[in-house]
Amino acid sequence: MRILYVVAEAVPFVKVGGLADVAYGLPRALRARGHEVRVILPRYRTINGSAHGLRPLRAPFPVPIGLAGETRPVEVEVSEATGVPTYFVWDEHWFGRDQVYGYPDDPQRFIFFCRAVLAFLRHMDWRPDILHGNDWHTGFLFLWLATAGRRDRFYRPIATVFTIHNMAYQGITGDALLAFGGIHDHVERLEVEPPGHINWLARGIAHADAVNTVSPRYAQEILTPEFGFGLEPLLRRRADRLFGILNGIDPEAWDPRTDPALVARFDAETLERRAENKRAAQEAFALPARTEIPLFAFIGRLIEQKGLDLLLQTADALFARGIQVAVLGTGMPEYEAALAGWPARFPGQAGVRLAFDEGLSRLLYGGADVFLMPSKFEPCGLGQMIAMRYGALPLVHAVGGLIDTVQDVAEEDGVGFVFSPFSPDAFLAAVDRALALYRDPPAWRAAQHRAMARDFSWAASAQAYERFYQQAAAWHNP
Ligand code: ADP
Repeated sequence: MRILYVVAEAVPFVKVGGLADVAYGLPRALRARGHEVRVILPRYRTINGSAHGLRPLRAPFPVPIGLAGETRPVEVEVSEATGVPTYFVWDEHWFGRDQVYGYPDDPQRFIFFCRAVLAFLRHMDWRPDILHGNDWHTGFLFLWLATAGRRDRFYRPIATVFTIHNMAYQGITGDALLAFGGIHDHVERLEVEPPGHINWLARGIAHADAVNTVSPRYAQEILTPEFGFGLEPLLRRRADRLFGILNGIDPEAWDPRTDPALVARFDAETLERRAENKRAAQEAFALPARTEIPLFAFIGRLIEQKGLDLLLQTADALFARGIQVAVLGTGMPEYEAALAGWPARFPGQAGVRLAFDEGLSRLLYGGADVFLMPSKFEPCGLGQMIAMRYGALPLVHAVGGLIDTVQDVAEEDGVGFVFSPFSPDAFLAAVDRALALYRDPPAWRAAQHRAMARDFSWAASAQAYERFYQQAAAWHNP
């Protein structure tokens, strides 16, 4: 199949969170199965063009915008750095900025990106069988293809699939943006849209031929008010087109045997070498380099979703247990401020780096004993999978993709510590179970072996996506 993968971020070019890892791993795995895959994303100013071999593709071409026949010239660059042709849409005004997200005009930026993607296909005369969009940034594509695109012989045969990576980000705007995107048609309000507004995540869900999210459990959870963020009526209406396909991780990109960011590379047979990484990580976080002390790690965006409130509420009790905790992340200013106070409050026990630092994250994955992921909700989560591959046992809330990937050590074949409900007591009880296992080194090592033996590679998921695409194509062109 010919597949166009449309996304706002992709490794190695630009990464904010797990979406970027998926946008690297899945297209490569699909290509390995023989599909013709291409990836397209905005060319943000911060992308290092020379480091990733970006080169201009063609002369600028016009992208229509608004209803008055106005166009803007757009340049496209291409890179082959990942083995999958990756295109970058450049427009100084919309993408010549330092951050990927977080601007008041983000909806306009991504609608423009979508318009450029559509124009680009026509310009290249390359028609995919499947257009695969991700998250609200691509929602416009689905509305456009379901309206204007229907009347156009070039676009009409394209089947569409939409992946929800997180229900919490929806992209809700006034409906004046329909005109900005060049949509003339009368657009019926969706049941979940407030009058006069468009919800771009909902538009992907409503108009795609098939919809999925990134774990089977989350696909069920989002049908309920607790996890559906208001879109559960729409999701329930589309439940027959809604699937859950677990994300993978790229086994080459995340390999403790070869990872150059580690001080000591290791595998399941040489776990004792992890102690060197642990020492280096302790030093990097200004903690005493004592390998006998259990080292807990948190790596992730510092937002409510990731369970920061639980960590902050239980801090005294957590550190009273004599452990070390290393935190690597950036996010909400109030969480950053609270965590910044930890090293002074818990000297020698808390190490905090408010930074996005991939090398340091790898050292922590390869040196920490326990990986904390007490997320309130979690569509899939990559951190816990990476941790397992690097021999750090995950401690997770029983939710979403965390349930689908982590079994508690109380079970046969367990690989981590799972708590429920989402409460301080349940969390601390899981910490205590982790510490009890830690005091039993053979049992700990056995759990590490099981964790490292788990197969989280993309191969199985890519096969599931292939069936998903075939189903979408059958629905689109019956
Ligand atoms: P999300 O997509 O919600 O951010 P995931 O667990 O799916 O969460 O993916 C997070 C990815 O981002 C992981 O690869 C993790 O290692 C990485 N990451 C998050 N924060 C940081 C950070 N501060 N430094 C380095 N890597 C980070």
